[in-house]
Amino acid sequence: MEINPVKGTHDIIADEANLYTMIEQTAMGIAQLYGYKEIRTPVIEHTPLFLRSVGESSDIVNKEMYTFDDKGGRSITLRPELTAGVMRSIVSNKLYANADLPIKYCYVGPCFRYERPQAGRYRQFNQFGVEAVGAPSCYQDAEVISIGHHLLSSIGLRNIKVLINSLGDEESRANYKVALKEYFSKHIDKMCPDCKRRLETNPLRILDCKVPEDIEIVKGAPKMTDYLSDASKAYLNKVIAILKDIGIETEIDTNLVRGLDYYTGVVFEYHFAKTDGIDNIGALGGGGHYANLLAEVGGPSYEGIGLAMGVERLAYIVKSVVNPKLPIGIDFYILGMTEQIIDQNFALADYLRGAGFIIETNYATKSMSSLLKTALRKNAKFAIIIGEDEIAKKEVAVKNLKTQDQTYVKLDDLENVLHSLINAYYADEMKLEGKEE
Ligand code: AMP
Repeated sequence: MEINPVKGTHDIIADEANLYTMIEQTAMGIAQLYGYKEIRTPVIEHTPLFLRSVGESSDIVNKEMYTFDDKGGRSITLRPELTAGVMRSIVSNKLYANADLPIKYCYVGPCFRYERPQAGRYRQFNQFGVEAVGAPSCYQDAEVISIGHHLLSSIGLRNIKVLINSLGDEESRANYKVALKEYFSKHIDKMCPDCKRRLETNPLRILDCKVPEDIEIVKGAPKMTDYLSDASKAYLNKVIAILKDIGIETEIDTNLVRGLDYYTGVVFEYHFAKTDGIDNIGALGGGGHYANLLAEVGGPSYEGIGLAMGVERLAYIVKSVVNPKLPIGIDFYILGMTEQIIDQNFALADYLRGAGFIIETNYATKSMSSLLKTALRKNAKFAIIIGEDEIAKKEVAVKNLKTQDQTYVKLDDLENVLHSLINAYYADEMKLEGKEE
């Protein structure tokens, strides 16, 4: 008797498998350009992890989890996404202790959801993602959003739409839920059974409904942006402005709430805008800010931001892939001692990564000596130091962290000089290793 593959699963063979590998390697390589370290967590977790994190009002928990009792009678679930497992691992391994915050991890691996299979929707699929935990900042949010964008352009995808929204702070969200409840109560008789349940558990989830008649009703619902506090609005606008400065255009989508309960603040999604001849496979990826997730799974109350991209969906759209052999390690650590300089450094870091350098920079003000220590701990080859004097002279100081030699470089000439410095650095390394021909 022939045994078929399980519904919603697929074999990935030969050229297609190569394409998956290239996408995954490119993704992990890019995350490492931003200083994220790989993490591999188990495919199985205790079920309560997902009840507490992904949330009891989400479709994932309500309808889509592969849950079973193991032989010891424990309720086990195949992970439907990786963020919850990463948070659990941060707590189990106390990865936050004595760490330079934020702690930043990247991952790739299979997930399982009992969904209705269709184009771009499987029951076993692969996600690439990143999480940055412990130092909330609009720059950190922008960094994570820019990583997804960087990946999409690196694998040759153009015509990408980045949708963004904010779920606001707790008070904004509570007020918004009241307004949604009032609005949907008037229409709920005509809505699907899931929405009837969502009205009671979490009316935000109704905005995710895919039933065509319900989508029409959702169009008339109150908009989150009208309920955001001034601080949440300013935060969202700042993230949008930071991204704009590095050439990433975003579009506010007031109905974007994402299907997982843990999001607070900024949420985002990437869509492929060109649809001619291409199945509508939904978002290529998405993510958002989470204020309470780590605490929810037993850790300290550190905020975080994460991103997850579906490898199947990327592979479907990608026709050709750039060379994914990206280098690993930090070339330059850019020091920001004041808020004004941190603001400028974000764009500088983005520009230099575009030129092929591996860059990290700080988003919270610290003293020069503390930042130099961080750069050393991260094995950066050079530190780039920008102070008031340097700004006035339109130059930066570049310090070789091994020899402590410091040179001043005019901004106009920066890219060329940094390439020479890195080349000279590697030439020196080869000499030290006696490998020079
Ligand atoms: P989520 O974890 O729901 O935020 O999803 C993040 C990304 O994972 C989506 O944008 C998709 O690219 C991918 N994804 C989610 N569910 C599936 C699925 N059932 N099949 C394939 N890819 C999926």
